[in-house]
Amino acid sequence: MSGEILVSCEENQSFKNVPIKGLEPQRPFPKKFYPRFTRGPIHIPELQQKENKIGNSFGNHIQDPVKGEIEFSPEMGMIFNEEDQEVRDLGYQKHAFNMLISNRLGYHREVPDTRDAKCREKSYPADLPSASVVICFYNEALSALLRTVHSVLDRTPAHLLHEIILVDDSSELADLKKDLSEYVKTQLPKTTKLVRNEKREGLIRGRMIGASHATGVFALNCMFVFHGTVDLCVVCPAGKVLVFLDSHCEVNEMWLQPLLTPIREDPRTVVCPVIDIISADTLAYSSSPVVRGGFNWGLHFKWDLVPLAELEGPQGATAPIKSPTMAGGLFAMDREYFNELGQYDSGMDIWGGENLEISFRIWMCGGRLLIIPCSRVGHIFRKRRPYGSPGGQDTMAHNSLRLAHVWMDEYKMMQMNGRSWASQKAHVTVLIIHVNKEQYFALRPELRTRSYGNITDRVELRKRLNCKSFKWYLDNIYPEMQISGPNAKAPQPVFINRAQKRPKIIQRGRLYHLQTNKCLVAQGHPSQKGGLVVVRECDYNDQNQVWIYNEDHELILNNLLCLDVSETRSSDPPRLMKCHGSGGSQQWTFGKNNRLYQVSVGQCLKVVDPVSHKGYVSVAICDGSLPQQWHFES
Ligand code: UDP
Ligand code: MN
Repeated sequence: MSGEILVSCEENQSFKNVPIKGLEPQRPFPKKFYPRFTRGPIHIPELQQKENKIGNSFGNHIQDPVKGEIEFSPEMGMIFNEEDQEVRDLGYQKHAFNMLISNRLGYHREVPDTRDAKCREKSYPADLPSASVVICFYNEALSALLRTVHSVLDRTPAHLLHEIILVDDSSELADLKKDLSEYVKTQLPKTTKLVRNEKREGLIRGRMIGASHATGVFALNCMFVFHGTVDLCVVCPAGKVLVFLDSHCEVNEMWLQPLLTPIREDPRTVVCPVIDIISADTLAYSSSPVVRGGFNWGLHFKWDLVPLAELEGPQGATAPIKSPTMAGGLFAMDREYFNELGQYDSGMDIWGGENLEISFRIWMCGGRLLIIPCSRVGHIFRKRRPYGSPGGQDTMAHNSLRLAHVWMDEYKMMQMNGRSWASQKAHVTVLIIHVNKEQYFALRPELRTRSYGNITDRVELRKRLNCKSFKWYLDNIYPEMQISGPNAKAPQPVFINRAQKRPKIIQRGRLYHLQTNKCLVAQGHPSQKGGLVVVRECDYNDQNQVWIYNEDHELILNNLLCLDVSETRSSDPPRLMKCHGSGGSQQWTFGKNNRLYQVSVGQCLKVVDPVSHKGYVSVAICDGSLPQQWHFES
């Protein structure tokens, strides 16, 4: 390394499009290594295997020599044999997402750049602080965890990535334990550490443990500016920022720089990326709209639309947005500030409530919380959480009681008015039914006397930090909440994974079964939710036989209900259900051999017993046979 020190981290110097030599992302060449439950490179003729592709955003893309890169296809989950079926079923059972697709995708994949076009023109300071990325996991699917890790390694400039700390929260899956430690030792850079909790701690204490392993040293970073003619060296405190991620994420292009920049300007700023959606059923990566975090009086996190005033700045769509709360899993924070602000409440168990607690604490104790639209990280949103707490307790209720008693002052009784304490998926809002306090306790009498442990330390922390009142927080940071008040109707829920517009119709016509010369119709009335479908004599004048196929790959009968399969019990026959717009169980593709492929279960639609007059249909492993051949007739 040569060159003198020209700038320090404190100087506000930014360079646009500077070619930086020696700062390539650390991308190890993985040797042949496969977890036991994957089968190495997959050879699915229908899945297009990309040719050796050169060039990613950093200009030095290296082809994974073993895996290759596989173009994402809706038919990625196709089941070829019993082993596939087992992997898929086990995945849903243990992880609540499609592990078959996750394993097939491997540890590296490209994801669509979902940022607003203006983000690509932005430049960031050259001397950003570097980050320690903390990823806690409990019984995670190895392929999802390693894709998280590799996405970070692949899409983060090496000088900004001080280390990755993996905290294994006492996972019980033997494969995971054995294969992961071997992989970390042999395949990942030395800067990736694996810490194992002796006992299950939950994600809250897990993150604190991860943060305590983060190291900070001063690092001298030199870069070659103007095509190698001028040296620029910066001294940066390495590992200055903690970045927390869930263990089933994929970071997008240039995800870290926009997060580090506001922290560099003001260490009391905590930042969250926009959380893009990775479908649990198809692993498809899609963009989320920019929304901000809120909560309801049941103390459940929810997404809110961003007030117009927030969006109308000179920076427009790329400007950071003040957010009253964070979703929880993905955020970046100055390490010293994290410690100074009291880390997390270590009396909180397993899952839930910690995101609101840290959000209230940040705002009330002099910090600020921002969502950064130019930073995007995908997260697998699951329909259920595949684990419980060791003792089976409702940790969300316990944690929420703690946070209410420490932070919510006279407003704490309001949360008693929210009916539902049950765990909710973070991105789906329930309409809270407001009932009076006594009615609430009548519904959940156990909460009246429920103990929530000792909160003295946290109350003292609040005093020590000289934090403002909860009223101040509501008045200044989340006035929308106060207007709605405890007895008003809850605001409309925002479903962020539902397309706002109606999907475009691709085709309208009949679904003709080639072997029987019959058409797919509802067994009963086409408007009957949950009704079965069967093949019957085609009647070209009957509107009840008309299907719509749209750009979301939905099949809608008579413009009413969608053809749907049960994701957990693929042996159940397909049914007509309300269109939910989130893909998966309602996504169908037409492919080779006239097949009609169901994306979520990875199988094809067939007529069960073509010679019988019953005409029952089911899904089965795609084999190209006659009972599986369909034709969409316009
Ligand atoms: N986690 C953990 N210990 C636990 C529960 C969860 O380390 O006891 C991890 C989990 O593997 C994940 C993160 O904490 O990486 C957040 O949990 P999860 O994804 O289940 O929460 P969600 O995204 O559903 O809110
Ligand atoms: Mn998660």
